[in-house]
Amino acid sequence: MDDARRRYLRQLLELGETDLVLPAQSGRTGEGGLQGSGETPSGAVVASRESAEEGKARPATAGAKGGAKPAAAKLPALPAGVVAEAPSGGDDLFAADPLRQLATLGALVPVIDACRKCALGHSRQHSVPGEGDPKAGLVVVGEAPGATEDETGRPFVGRAGKLLDDILKAIGFRREDVFICNVLKCRPPENRDPEPLEVTACSPYLHRQLELIAPRVILAMGRPAAHALLGVNASLGELRGKVHRYRGIPVIVTYHPAALLRNPHWKRPTWDDVRNARRIYDGDGA
Ligand code: URA
Repeated sequence: MDDARRRYLRQLLELGETDLVLPAQSGRTGEGGLQGSGETPSGAVVASRESAEEGKARPATAGAKGGAKPAAAKLPALPAGVVAEAPSGGDDLFAADPLRQLATLGALVPVIDACRKCALGHSRQHSVPGEGDPKAGLVVVGEAPGATEDETGRPFVGRAGKLLDDILKAIGFRREDVFICNVLKCRPPENRDPEPLEVTACSPYLHRQLELIAPRVILAMGRPAAHALLGVNASLGELRGKVHRYRGIPVIVTYHPAALLRNPHWKRPTWDDVRNARRIYDGDGA
């Protein structure tokens, strides 16, 4: 174990961290490094109970003393960020939105599938409305379906999706515990960035989904998701590390899993972000 790993481990033990989290060894965080590796989104490694690392380190934790559960690590409180509200009043365009007549997530599915408000409705194979628990406390919002999602009609099932599954697992969620969707419900050709008009056309579906689910916290993955929810054109750097509000619901902004596949060194900040999302979900910190 090198000095940096030892220092980080000591810090975690002082914090009473329940899981043993170690920064990745150099060269460990390759593309898709979270998959099945036991790494956290930070590029760190959550050692299994059986692992030799844990075998050495766990006796030093509070948990080893008489079996008492160690206190969860305290993350610093996050400052407030952008507040995005629905238009007020009963007779405005938003209130007159026909999607508001649709009372369930299921009722939205055929409407999304029939949508041809923009050209993507003509070029895609399948619409990808989203999936998961309709009463989820956590909603994950990505950008737009990619090739595998377009083939299957399911969100986040390609390489980025596998990484998302690992990220969720690292904070104690199974995919089916949350609701996963995108800003765009149809794939942009060649995975190009969403056009503003496409976002405008498609956003009402996302807004209605969020209204129906009414989650405890929203995890916006990537800039397009944050922009669509918060209505601001800020950089990811400016948006991360704050608790924003979307119609009163806390929003945590983090990197998109596809970006993490290209830049594994962003896994650590992502780990911080998703732990904050978990903390808010647990009723602590927002
Ligand atoms: N990227 C996204 O933003 N969403 C998906 O569903 C897949 C990849």
